[in-house]
Amino acid sequence: MIELKNIHKSYVTGNTELHVLKGIDLEIKSGEFVSIMGSSGSGKSTLLNILGILDNYDHGEYILDGKLMANLNETKAAYYRNQMLGFVFQSFNLISFKNAMENVALPLYYQKVNRKKRNLMAMEYLDKVGLREWAHHLPSEMSGGQKQRVAIARSLITNPKIILADEPTGALDSVTSSEVMTIFEDINRQGMTVIIVTHEHDIAERTKKIVRLHDGNIKEIVSTRQHKLNYV
Ligand code: ADP
Ligand code: MG
Repeated sequence: MIELKNIHKSYVTGNTELHVLKGIDLEIKSGEFVSIMGSSGSGKSTLLNILGILDNYDHGEYILDGKLMANLNETKAAYYRNQMLGFVFQSFNLISFKNAMENVALPLYYQKVNRKKRNLMAMEYLDKVGLREWAHHLPSEMSGGQKQRVAIARSLITNPKIILADEPTGALDSVTSSEVMTIFEDINRQGMTVIIVTHEHDIAERTKKIVRLHDGNIKEIVSTRQHKLNYV
Protein backbone atom coordinates (compact mmCIF):
# COMPACT_ATOMS: atom_id res chain seq x y z
CA MET A 1 0.00 0.00 0.00
CA ILE A 2 2.76 2.42 1.04
CA GLU A 3 6.44 2.18 0.19
CA LEU A 4 9.00 4.79 1.16
CA LYS A 5 12.53 4.42 -0.15
CA ASN A 6 15.35 6.61 1.12
CA ILE A 7 13.11 9.65 1.70
CA HIS A 8 14.92 12.89 2.52
CA LYS A 9 13.33 16.19 3.42
CA SER A 10 14.90 19.51 4.40
CA TYR A 11 13.39 22.86 5.24
CA VAL A 12 15.22 25.94 4.11
CA THR A 13 14.60 29.17 6.01
CA GLY A 14 16.75 32.10 5.01
CA ASN A 15 20.22 30.64 4.63
CA THR A 16 19.82 27.81 7.12
CA GLU A 17 18.84 24.34 6.05
CA LEU A 18 17.25 21.86 8.45
CA HIS A 19 17.60 18.24 7.35
CA VAL A 20 14.53 16.67 8.98
CA LEU A 21 14.19 13.27 7.28
CA LYS A 22 17.50 11.58 6.45
CA GLY A 23 16.69 8.50 4.44
CA ILE A 24 13.42 6.94 5.58
CA ASP A 25 12.69 3.41 4.36
CA LEU A 26 9.28 2.14 5.34
CA GLU A 27 6.69 -0.26 4.04
CA ILE A 28 3.10 -0.27 5.26
CA LYS A 29 0.78 -2.95 3.96
CA SER A 30 -2.94 -2.81 3.46
CA GLY A 31 -4.82 -3.35 6.73
CA GLU A 32 -1.93 -2.38 9.01
CA PHE A 33 -2.42 -0.27 12.14
CA VAL A 34 0.76 1.75 12.66
CA SER A 35 1.86 4.49 15.00
CA ILE A 36 4.74 6.87 14.33
CA MET A 37 6.47 8.00 17.52
CA GLY A 38 9.29 10.36 18.29
CA SER A 39 10.06 13.42 20.36
CA SER A 40 8.73 16.84 19.43
CA GLY A 41 10.49 18.11 16.32
CA SER A 42 11.66 14.65 15.23
CA GLY A 43 9.81 14.92 11.92
CA LYS A 44 6.61 12.97 12.61
CA SER A 45 4.31 15.54 11.02
CA THR A 46 6.73 16.05 8.16
CA LEU A 47 6.62 12.34 7.44
CA LEU A 48 2.82 12.19 7.73
CA ASN A 49 2.44 15.21 5.44
CA ILE A 50 4.57 13.48 2.82
CA LEU A 51 2.45 10.33 3.16
CA GLY A 52 -0.65 12.52 2.81
CA ILE A 53 0.71 14.21 -0.34
CA LEU A 54 0.38 17.49 1.52
CA ASP A 55 4.09 18.18 1.14
CA ASN A 56 6.89 17.21 -1.24
CA TYR A 57 10.05 15.31 -0.42
CA ASP A 58 13.50 16.17 -1.77
CA HIS A 59 14.94 12.77 -2.54
CA GLY A 60 13.88 9.13 -2.66
CA GLU A 61 10.65 7.45 -3.73
CA TYR A 62 7.14 7.36 -2.33
CA ILE A 63 5.00 4.69 -3.90
CA LEU A 64 1.32 4.75 -2.94
CA ASP A 65 -0.90 1.94 -4.15
CA GLY A 66 1.65 1.11 -6.85
CA LYS A 67 2.00 4.66 -8.14
CA LEU A 68 5.02 6.90 -7.74
CA MET A 69 4.09 10.10 -5.90
CA ALA A 70 6.58 12.56 -7.35
CA ASN A 71 6.38 15.94 -9.07
CA LEU A 72 2.59 16.00 -8.83
CA ASN A 73 0.81 19.24 -9.59
CA GLU A 74 -1.85 20.29 -7.07
CA THR A 75 -4.71 18.87 -9.18
CA LYS A 76 -3.07 15.45 -9.36
CA ALA A 77 -2.12 15.52 -5.67
CA ALA A 78 -5.69 16.44 -4.73
CA TYR A 79 -6.98 13.62 -6.92
CA TYR A 80 -4.87 11.00 -5.13
CA ARG A 81 -5.69 12.48 -1.72
CA ASN A 82 -9.43 12.35 -2.45
CA GLN A 83 -9.24 8.82 -3.85
CA MET A 84 -6.98 7.27 -1.27
CA LEU A 85 -6.68 9.20 1.97
CA GLY A 86 -8.66 10.35 4.97
CA PHE A 87 -7.21 12.88 7.42
CA VAL A 88 -7.71 13.40 11.15
CA PHE A 89 -5.95 16.26 12.97
CA GLN A 90 -5.28 17.12 16.60
CA SER A 91 -7.46 20.23 16.39
CA PHE A 92 -10.42 18.43 14.70
CA ASN A 93 -10.65 21.10 11.95
CA LEU A 94 -14.45 21.15 11.97
CA ILE A 95 -16.38 24.07 10.50
CA SER A 96 -17.88 25.90 13.45
CA PHE A 97 -21.10 27.09 11.78
CA LYS A 98 -21.98 23.69 10.33
CA ASN A 99 -23.59 20.94 12.38
CA ALA A 100 -22.07 17.47 12.84
CA MET A 101 -23.95 15.98 9.88
CA GLU A 102 -22.93 18.82 7.54
CA ASN A 103 -19.30 18.57 8.66
CA VAL A 104 -19.23 14.83 7.96
CA ALA A 105 -20.96 15.37 4.60
CA LEU A 106 -18.55 18.09 3.44
CA PRO A 107 -16.08 15.90 1.47
CA LEU A 108 -19.04 14.62 -0.56
CA TYR A 109 -20.08 18.19 -1.35
CA TYR A 110 -16.70 18.62 -3.03
CA GLN A 111 -17.35 15.40 -4.93
CA LYS A 112 -20.62 16.97 -6.13
CA VAL A 113 -22.86 14.41 -4.41
CA ASN A 114 -26.36 15.89 -4.00
CA ARG A 115 -27.41 17.16 -0.57
CA LYS A 116 -29.97 14.45 0.17
CA LYS A 117 -27.57 11.62 -0.58
CA ARG A 118 -24.60 13.15 1.22
CA ASN A 119 -26.64 13.88 4.36
CA LEU A 120 -27.98 10.34 4.34
CA MET A 121 -24.45 8.98 4.12
CA ALA A 122 -23.25 11.39 6.79
CA MET A 123 -25.92 9.98 9.14
CA GLU A 124 -24.67 6.47 8.41
CA TYR A 125 -21.10 7.45 9.31
CA LEU A 126 -22.17 9.39 12.40
CA ASP A 127 -23.96 6.22 13.45
CA LYS A 128 -20.70 4.24 13.05
CA VAL A 129 -18.97 6.55 15.54
CA GLY A 130 -21.94 6.53 17.92
CA LEU A 131 -23.11 10.08 17.25
CA ARG A 132 -26.39 9.75 15.34
CA GLU A 133 -28.19 11.65 18.09
CA TRP A 134 -25.74 14.55 17.73
CA ALA A 135 -26.23 15.11 14.01
CA HIS A 136 -27.85 18.53 14.40
CA HIS A 137 -25.50 19.88 17.03
CA LEU A 138 -22.80 22.43 16.28
CA PRO A 139 -19.17 21.64 17.20
CA SER A 140 -19.37 24.23 20.01
CA GLU A 141 -22.06 22.09 21.65
CA MET A 142 -19.90 18.95 21.62
CA SER A 143 -17.06 17.64 23.79
CA GLY A 144 -13.52 17.22 22.41
CA GLY A 145 -14.01 13.47 22.08
CA GLN A 146 -17.28 13.93 20.22
CA LYS A 147 -15.67 16.46 17.88
CA GLN A 148 -12.88 14.05 17.09
CA ARG A 149 -15.41 11.30 16.39
CA VAL A 150 -17.15 13.67 13.95
CA ALA A 151 -13.77 14.29 12.31
CA ILE A 152 -13.17 10.53 12.04
CA ALA A 153 -16.60 10.05 10.44
CA ARG A 154 -15.72 12.85 7.98
CA SER A 155 -12.41 11.14 7.15
CA LEU A 156 -14.21 7.86 6.42
CA ILE A 157 -17.09 9.12 4.29
CA THR A 158 -15.15 9.12 1.01
CA ASN A 159 -14.21 5.48 1.62
CA PRO A 160 -10.43 6.05 1.61
CA LYS A 161 -7.86 3.27 1.66
CA ILE A 162 -5.76 4.84 4.41
CA ILE A 163 -6.54 7.04 7.42
CA LEU A 164 -3.73 9.40 8.44
CA ALA A 165 -4.08 10.95 11.90
CA ASP A 166 -1.65 13.52 13.34
CA GLU A 167 -1.79 13.50 17.16
CA PRO A 168 -5.54 12.72 17.07
CA THR A 169 -5.68 12.43 20.88
CA GLY A 170 -3.30 15.31 21.56
CA ALA A 171 -6.09 17.63 22.71
CA LEU A 172 -8.08 15.02 24.66
CA ASP A 173 -8.03 13.71 28.24
CA SER A 174 -6.99 10.09 28.76
CA VAL A 175 -10.50 8.61 29.03
CA THR A 176 -11.64 10.37 25.85
CA SER A 177 -8.37 9.45 24.11
CA SER A 178 -9.07 5.83 24.90
CA GLU A 179 -12.56 6.10 23.38
CA VAL A 180 -11.14 7.63 20.22
CA MET A 181 -8.56 4.82 20.02
CA THR A 182 -11.39 2.29 20.31
CA ILE A 183 -12.89 3.80 17.16
CA PHE A 184 -9.57 3.56 15.31
CA GLU A 185 -9.29 -0.08 16.46
CA ASP A 186 -12.81 -0.75 15.16
CA ILE A 187 -12.17 0.73 11.73
CA ASN A 188 -8.84 -1.11 11.49
CA ARG A 189 -10.60 -4.37 12.40
CA GLN A 190 -12.92 -3.70 9.47
CA GLY A 191 -9.87 -3.61 7.19
CA MET A 192 -8.87 0.05 7.08
CA THR A 193 -5.16 0.91 7.03
CA VAL A 194 -4.61 3.36 9.89
CA ILE A 195 -1.48 5.44 10.55
CA ILE A 196 -1.35 7.54 13.71
CA VAL A 197 1.32 10.02 14.77
CA THR A 198 1.59 10.28 18.54
CA HIS A 199 4.09 10.92 21.28
CA GLU A 200 1.99 9.09 23.89
CA HIS A 201 3.09 5.54 24.72
CA ASP A 202 -0.33 4.27 25.77
CA ILE A 203 -1.75 5.43 22.43
CA ALA A 204 1.04 3.81 20.42
CA GLU A 205 0.67 0.58 22.41
CA ARG A 206 -2.86 0.21 21.04
CA THR A 207 -1.64 0.13 17.45
CA LYS A 208 -0.08 -3.03 16.05
CA LYS A 209 3.26 -1.60 15.00
CA ILE A 210 5.31 1.29 16.36
CA VAL A 211 7.75 3.17 14.13
CA ARG A 212 10.21 5.23 16.18
CA LEU A 213 11.82 8.30 14.61
CA HIS A 214 15.06 9.69 15.97
CA ASP A 215 17.42 12.23 14.42
CA GLY A 216 15.72 11.95 11.05
CA ASN A 217 15.96 8.19 10.83
CA ILE A 218 13.83 5.25 11.85
CA LYS A 219 15.40 4.04 15.07
CA GLU A 220 13.32 0.90 15.40
CA ILE A 221 10.08 -0.73 14.35
CA VAL A 222 8.32 -2.71 17.06
CA SER A 223 5.44 -5.09 16.61
CA THR A 224 3.32 -4.44 19.69
CA ARG A 225 1.69 -7.84 19.59
CA GLN A 226 5.10 -9.50 19.85
CA HIS A 227 6.05 -6.99 22.46
CA LYS A 228 3.11 -8.04 24.62
CA LEU A 229 3.82 -11.73 24.06
CA ASN A 230 7.33 -11.21 25.44
CA TYR A 231 5.82 -10.38 28.81
CA VAL A 232 3.57 -13.45 28.96
P1 ADP B 1 7.07 16.68 14.90
O1 ADP B 1 5.75 16.55 14.24
O2 ADP B 1 7.77 15.38 15.15
O3 ADP B 1 7.01 17.50 16.16
P2 ADP B 1 7.77 18.27 12.57
O4 ADP B 1 7.76 17.32 11.44
O5 ADP B 1 6.58 19.15 12.71
O6 ADP B 1 8.06 17.47 13.93
O7 ADP B 1 9.03 19.20 12.46
C1 ADP B 1 10.34 18.70 12.34
C2 ADP B 1 11.31 19.87 12.32
O8 ADP B 1 11.13 20.64 11.14
C3 ADP B 1 11.13 20.85 13.47
O9 ADP B 1 12.38 21.30 13.88
C4 ADP B 1 10.31 21.97 12.87
O10 ADP B 1 10.55 23.18 13.52
C5 ADP B 1 10.79 21.98 11.43
N1 ADP B 1 9.74 22.40 10.49
C6 ADP B 1 8.53 21.82 10.33
N2 ADP B 1 7.85 22.41 9.34
C7 ADP B 1 8.61 23.41 8.88
C8 ADP B 1 8.47 24.40 7.85
N3 ADP B 1 7.37 24.45 7.11
N4 ADP B 1 9.49 25.26 7.66
C9 ADP B 1 10.62 25.20 8.39
N5 ADP B 1 10.84 24.28 9.36
C10 ADP B 1 9.85 23.41 9.61
MG1 MG C 1 3.86 17.19 14.76
